[in-house]
Amino acid sequence: MLLCLLGACGPLASGGDDDTGGDDEGGGDGGGSSGPDAPAGPRSVFDPAVTEVLVEIDYEPGAEPFTGNVIGFGDTFAITQSNIERLFAGRKSVALPTTLAGMENIGDVPDEALTVDDLLQLAAAHRSGADTSTRKTYYVLFLTGYFADGNGPNAGVLGVALGDTGVIAIFKDVIDSTQVPATNVARFVEQSTLVHELGHAIGLVDNGVAVTSPHDDTVHGAHCTNDACVMYWQNEGAGDMAAYVQRAVLTGDTILFDAACLADVDALTGGP
Ligand SMILES: [Zn+2]
Ligand SMILES: [Zn+2]
Repeated sequence: MLLCLLGACGPLASGGDDDTGGDDEGGGDGGGSSGPDAPAGPRSVFDPAVTEVLVEIDYEPGAEPFTGNVIGFGDTFAITQSNIERLFAGRKSVALPTTLAGMENIGDVPDEALTVDDLLQLAAAHRSGADTSTRKTYYVLFLTGYFADGNGPNAGVLGVALGDTGVIAIFKDVIDSTQVPATNVARFVEQSTLVHELGHAIGLVDNGVAVTSPHDDTVHGAHCTNDACVMYWQNEGAGDMAAYVQRAVLTGDTILFDAACLADVDALTGGP
């Protein structure tokens, strides 16, 4: 259940404040504001000057993401690759590692109750990519343990996106809890979670990307009201995401965003 991650729990400031809710953030500052005094980096990934989107992935041993070919499907990471490319209508190059060789093993992280501050500290220690005037970077950590807020560890939270920091964490123990024996459910839950969190970081559903139709979930901010969309709030929760994946991914829908979410980004890119 829970999932929220993101907005529901309230915006998290990028500075790592102690907002207990965490998750995904809904701060709405993904787009940022640019003024004459703005620093050199891009203010929004949708700025036409940004031509390159770089996703960096690090993992704790034992929490590495599923990779590789699935018979009858293709490469596991094709799900994230195709969905993120679709958000930018193919107008930006999307660099995403698809094998463990392209990701970094950061060593054991003994902490199994990871707060926002813990995650930001891990990012500060291990993140290599940096934004430039033409490149926007996102940083994904795959970790054992659970996301922790003021109420303690959340065994139902699959992932979180931390405000406008571009930092995402995916909680492997929760991903694994969705597995159905003899299926690829957990594998596809993991990819769908990555798409959901990158969607938050990129600014979907009024988190920087303005809505062009009323589909923003005003109760669980920065989520889509359509339960068939990967940005639906409960799709951050283990139980619902597993059901969603069996409906969507396993039946062959490659693009997990619904028409409303795609219309919002197409209004910025011009569409495919
Ligand atoms: Zn979310
Ligand atoms: Zn949607």
